[in-house]
Amino acid sequence: MTEVAEAPGTQRAQELKRINHWINGAPVAGQSGRSGPVYNPAAGIQSGEVDFASAEEVDRAVQVANDAFPTWRAMSLSRKTEIFFRIRKLVDEHREDIAKILTAEHGKVLSDAKGEVARGLEVIEYCCGIPELLKGGFTEQASTGIDVYSIRQPLGVCAGITPFNFPAMVPMWMWAPALACGNTFVLKPSEKDPSASVYTAELLKEAGVPDGVFNVVHGDKVAVDAILEHPGIDSVSFVGSTPIARYVYETGTSHGKRVQALGGAKNHMIVLPDADIEMAADAAVSAGYGSAGERCMAVSMLVAVGDAGDELVGAIKQRLPKVKVGDGMDPDAEMGPLVTREHRDKVASYIDRGRAEGATVVTDGRESAPDGDGFFLGVTLLDDVRPGMDVYKDEIFGPVLGVTRVNTYDEAVRLVNENPYGNGVAIFTRDGGVARQFQFDVNVGMVGINVPIPVPVAYYSFGGWKNSLFGDLHVYGPEGIQFYTRGKVVTSRWPDPATSKVDLGFPQTR
Ligand code: NAD
Repeated sequence: MTEVAEAPGTQRAQELKRINHWINGAPVAGQSGRSGPVYNPAAGIQSGEVDFASAEEVDRAVQVANDAFPTWRAMSLSRKTEIFFRIRKLVDEHREDIAKILTAEHGKVLSDAKGEVARGLEVIEYCCGIPELLKGGFTEQASTGIDVYSIRQPLGVCAGITPFNFPAMVPMWMWAPALACGNTFVLKPSEKDPSASVYTAELLKEAGVPDGVFNVVHGDKVAVDAILEHPGIDSVSFVGSTPIARYVYETGTSHGKRVQALGGAKNHMIVLPDADIEMAADAAVSAGYGSAGERCMAVSMLVAVGDAGDELVGAIKQRLPKVKVGDGMDPDAEMGPLVTREHRDKVASYIDRGRAEGATVVTDGRESAPDGDGFFLGVTLLDDVRPGMDVYKDEIFGPVLGVTRVNTYDEAVRLVNENPYGNGVAIFTRDGGVARQFQFDVNVGMVGINVPIPVPVAYYSFGGWKNSLFGDLHVYGPEGIQFYTRGKVVTSRWPDPATSKVDLGFPQTR
């Protein structure tokens, strides 16, 4: 295996990499006595040990972020922009290093890991335009001699809590707009693949981000609860599973914080009988099994309308033996292992569960998993899945693709709209009129028309509806800027002192 770049802030002890917190511009060894294992999923062995923060360690990170805030906030937009261009350059130069860290701890194949970094970089690039993004409004002569203008100001100390499946990109969705808007940041990345965050911290320091502006604390529920309850934290951005997203939203808001909490998904891809079935099959395989199905925008359920089903299932089945599963550092591998042994076993258990519920197991991923100790599972295709089955309802978050069959477009839309999740959805058709009606009809935040994974570009915002997002504002793009700032409206007069008089009436706009 190619040697993986060592994340700064780590040290080797007994062959295990020790992953420390990053506070005030330097690695800080954990003091809590609590830590957790980090694995190399392709080898199936523990590769590191990550410190878990106590409430006191979270408090220390919040204190330094709070201390750094006044200076960072006051730094001119042109200087912040210079720093952001340097961040952009450094992340670009270190794409490969970051991607190797992702592959080593998450397991995704290197090409996919590079894709993750590229999409995160787009958000950093968007933030290089922060002077334009923070422009306010101005109204001259709103009343006689009075001008009114609006400005947006940072919140203070913002926190981010992120999931295992995008260890570099999802944090970039948060810290980039938060810092660009003048906030300071405390990141609590997933404890399963924490090294990319520490590596990012090192790059930000090199780019000129002052110490204390960006901090990383590792850990589990103890660290998350400390963030949610800390009076010095002004906002929390969360991405992860729906039950934790709901908990984070409810707990964070009850402690007076602004919260955006993105949850899980069950993304449907509708295939109409007029669709190009070969193209739909390519899309279904790519979007269903890419990153081993561990994407919140993965397609997990195909809805075949009318007589599309048999041809679609046949076309997908034909493609599955060609999917190359292997170590993410192997350039030939298209799909890597799952993140942990427990998760692999849980995903695999859905194959028998689906069969017991009446689904047809067209391809069983357990039969094509590579040998060895790695957390591998091959690709699984389940046909004849029906609403009500666990394999239909649950977010499996692995390489298991289900097919359900309906008779009409209306039935397909009803399925999507009745689903408690509303992250992504796609429709495959040659009929522009139906596609246009679909975008109008579906209660889902991100819609693809002949595009299976419609992750918005960085100058739009990302977010689902229903149980896929708790809060009002989506992440990155214009809504990200709104989330990390608050509005202020100034009414100003520079009067001629000669016109001054006492007037107890309510101010009139004339
Ligand atoms: P997770 O909910 O288990 O963990 C997310 C974060 O919450 C981690 O930092 C973790 O340490 C913390 N956490 C876990 N359990 C907690 C608890 N009991 N109390 C407090 N904090 C806790 O999610 P995951 O398994 O890391 O990631 C996969 C999930 O994330 C999937 O459901 C996926 O759909 C979702 N996801 C959603 C999006 C989106 O944009 N909507 C994007 C990526 C991932």
